[in-house]
Amino acid sequence: MSLHYPFTDLPPAGQRFKVADGVYWLRFPLPFALDHINLWLLEDNHGWVIVDTGLGVRRSRDIWQQLLAEQLDGKPVTRIIVTHYHPDHLGMAGWLQQHCQAPVIMSRGEWQLASHICDASDEQTIQRFKHFLGSHGLQGDNLDKVAGKGNGFRRVVMPMPTDPQFVGAGDSLTINGQHWQIHIGRGHAPEHLCLYRNDDRLLISGDQVLPTISSNLMVRPTEPEANPVVAFVDSLKAIRDALPQDTLVLPAHGLPFRGLHHRINALVAHHDQQLDQVQAACRHHPHNAHDILPVMFNRELDVQQLMFAMGESIAHLNCLVEQGRVQREDRDGIWHFAA
Ligand SMILES: [Zn+2]
Repeated sequence: MSLHYPFTDLPPAGQRFKVADGVYWLRFPLPFALDHINLWLLEDNHGWVIVDTGLGVRRSRDIWQQLLAEQLDGKPVTRIIVTHYHPDHLGMAGWLQQHCQAPVIMSRGEWQLASHICDASDEQTIQRFKHFLGSHGLQGDNLDKVAGKGNGFRRVVMPMPTDPQFVGAGDSLTINGQHWQIHIGRGHAPEHLCLYRNDDRLLISGDQVLPTISSNLMVRPTEPEANPVVAFVDSLKAIRDALPQDTLVLPAHGLPFRGLHHRINALVAHHDQQLDQVQAACRHHPHNAHDILPVMFNRELDVQQLMFAMGESIAHLNCLVEQGRVQREDRDGIWHFAA
């Protein structure tokens, strides 16, 4: 069985598009290879709840100003929910919080990581990435390009929201009299909020479950031994086991779809296969994370994609180390992995 996409038309630019009772889809542009993000507007008793906020750049602010003026039927924003810390989700939350005088809701784990990343100076950020990615085999020009921009996160999350309300596993939110259960995704982000409305089997999945691309699993320099592959796969299986197959999934990228179990099974299989391929390469001869890139990605990578790809390569190697399938050794300051 493949995925079923009930909506083939995209929301018109700058307009909301109804996908379920009281649930509207907004599509914002992104200046990356991944060129858009889906945000969600939920009707509340006397206003609107926003789920995810767009990249913190002038273009997003201009779109929000127009949407707030024209698409909310004159009603206020009552809450702003941020699924996870990535700047295309969190970026405009601080501006919206101030502009709309509405509270921001997120998980403690996402808030802590975002604050930690934001607090680093340009120089600290460059040094952390240089040291970390250099120790995994990224060298020369590419290392300078990937590490050389300083704290790019802070430049597209401006300002950070203040005093968020924390929610987590087992909590639920009441919106327009209906309960939305919180399910937690891990691996792509530390404590990613997914929102599920049981009444009509609707899941706002953020980046945890995407229909056509696999979410980036990146090891960050601040937690170099992390194993996001297992965290991602385990949290996906928990979501699959908790929610029905015919759930309508509202993802942050791509089209809304049905076929949640099918998609999760495919993502789990994808990572199993990647682990097998990486281990096989390391059986040939020891590889570092940079050597592994052509094994995992057979396409050209721009600078941003190179950083994600390095993070993903390290993630799979860390997983194999933890499973005892490869051994890590330091060769002249660069980690190599042998099977
Ligand atoms: Zn993300």
